[in-house]
Amino acid sequence: MNEAATQTRPAVLILLGPPGAGKGTQARMLQQRFGLVQLSTGDLLRAAVAEATEAGRQAQAVMAAGGLVSDEIVLAILRERMAAPDTTKGVILDGFPRTEGQAMALDSLLAEQGLAISAAVSMAVDDDAMVRRVSGRFTCAGCGEGYHDEFRQPRKQGVCDECAGTAFTRRADDNAETVRARLTAYHAQTAPLIAYYDKRGVLQAVDGMGSIDAIAGELGAMVSKVTA
Ligand code: ADP
Ligand code: ADP
Ligand code: ZN
Repeated sequence: MNEAATQTRPAVLILLGPPGAGKGTQARMLQQRFGLVQLSTGDLLRAAVAEATEAGRQAQAVMAAGGLVSDEIVLAILRERMAAPDTTKGVILDGFPRTEGQAMALDSLLAEQGLAISAAVSMAVDDDAMVRRVSGRFTCAGCGEGYHDEFRQPRKQGVCDECAGTAFTRRADDNAETVRARLTAYHAQTAPLIAYYDKRGVLQAVDGMGSIDAIAGELGAMVSKVTA
């Protein structure tokens, strides 16, 4: 590969953190700022459930219980989305990988395509904050912009800042009980990926307890470096 091609190689950024860490919020901001594509396996799975595809039917009960959907289903969905033409500048993986099996499959998928991980960013938040963040989360039904009862209300009450929509949704799995199951899954299966990426020399960290803007500043600086 010549030097120019190397420089324009698409960025692959992984956001690694528990439910409520702010992955979706930050991925949307990075998407707007850098033209990278947010690729959220949670969003893709919810779409599959809504469309009642075969994968969606299989995933539904597991998601409602706060468990992890099988690697096979998640990988099939991810592969399909990565192949879309809008990912040429790069992707922000939001909520993927979540198991070591997924991390290894991602390594092979990227190798096949001549791509490499630019950074895997660990976003640490404590368990109490997580429950509070998830419990207060709501989303614009029109454009998917994320809000929070305490931490991020729309500028005008009841009206989306981005699309002026007035309908909002709350996820059924964002309740205190399911959040505990999701946290258990995170600690058992996803947290070990921090060491996985540290070993590969691509691990970075931000303080997930900081403000949305402070974290966006740190991530923006990181992405500017890897896309320079
Ligand atoms: P994740 O995608 O990691 O599950 P989200 O980005 O959906 O997390 O954030 C969870 C909730 O917390 C949302 O309601 C969001 O508005 C809010 N939030 C995100 N980042 C922060 C932050 N740094 N401080 C306070 N609230 C935040
Ligand atoms: P959050 O970041 O708030 O935990 P997501 O939207 O990323 O939520 O995921 C919601 C649910 O979708 C998870 O609890 C899990 O059941 C399923 N899911 C999402 N991504 C994956 C993945 N990579 N592997 C397995 N299950 C996943
Ligand atoms: Zn909106």
